[in-house]
Amino acid sequence: MNNFSYTKTKEIADASVLLKDNANHKAIAGGTNIVDLMKYFVVEADTLVDINGIPGMDELSETENGGIRLGALMTNAATAYHPVIEQKYPLLSKTILAGASGQIRNMATNGGNLLQKTRCYYFYDHSVPCNKREPGSGCPAVKGYNRIHAILGHSPDCIAVFPSDMCVALAALNAKVHVQSAEGERQIGFEDFHRLPGDTPEIDNNLKQGEIITGIELPAEDFSQNYSYLKLRDRSSYAFALISVATAFKIENDRITEARIALGGVAHKPWRNKEAEGYLKGKAPSREHFAQAADLILAEAQGFKHNRFKIDLAKKAIIRNCMMALEPETQRPGAKPSL
Ligand code: SF4
Repeated sequence: MNNFSYTKTKEIADASVLLKDNANHKAIAGGTNIVDLMKYFVVEADTLVDINGIPGMDELSETENGGIRLGALMTNAATAYHPVIEQKYPLLSKTILAGASGQIRNMATNGGNLLQKTRCYYFYDHSVPCNKREPGSGCPAVKGYNRIHAILGHSPDCIAVFPSDMCVALAALNAKVHVQSAEGERQIGFEDFHRLPGDTPEIDNNLKQGEIITGIELPAEDFSQNYSYLKLRDRSSYAFALISVATAFKIENDRITEARIALGGVAHKPWRNKEAEGYLKGKAPSREHFAQAADLILAEAQGFKHNRFKIDLAKKAIIRNCMMALEPETQRPGAKPSL
């Protein structure tokens, strides 16, 4: 870790100016990812700008249109266990609790969850090139060991995946990201927040330099009746997803009136396929229809030497998770699906 300065701000505008002035000034909140990145010399910050003192950003509030606004500085644990989230947005609670460990969730913030970096092993290893760490240097994962890498939306320059669980639910729920800078405020639809790698894999998201995430808005539509999150990983705790699926349905008269299926562990951002979701609208909720939707979602998938298994695994995970969403009681701790 290099030597760095530390400053704490109480105003968003002050923090924004500091961050905009110099790309090597970095914001810190929970610090659960950036400190690791600094220890590995992946991030070499001159100054850490501590935003924890900014008032009002660690609260949950109701929005005028019946939704919920999560403060960016609320911890993941406080969010997952908040009674409003447990009751109205159980899918979000479930995904947060599937991620990291209790200790990390107690420190990690909602805003930081969106900004965490890929866990591609080459990204953290300075003995090899990496286009995300050093643009133009190459991507050893394409021909290297790529078991955890992307099967959708990748480019020749980067095949990394975005590691968050929480963001898979936020994608399914059509959340909005509220951001602010010294110049003003704006909102970014969740599907437009994270980017695919293209030929600029060093840019993870569409946050501009100097902008700070202030909150995450959840629409009123809560999907608390039919939802499920399935995370498949190499060990049952404290591991990132090989494949994860967040599913939410609205069902009336045995017909699906709204379907949301978001995947984690497959791409550089949480992955949704509107064609597959549209296909399910008006259909009876059945294994056959879910299998068709899974085929549509994975139609363009392309694996690499060590991760081709993820294509079939993703299809099976989608079907299973859609079936589990028909039995939301399977989502309670300790419950077993009747599959
Ligand atoms: Fe770097 Fe992306 Fe290649 Fe991993 S997949 S080595 S992050 S460029």
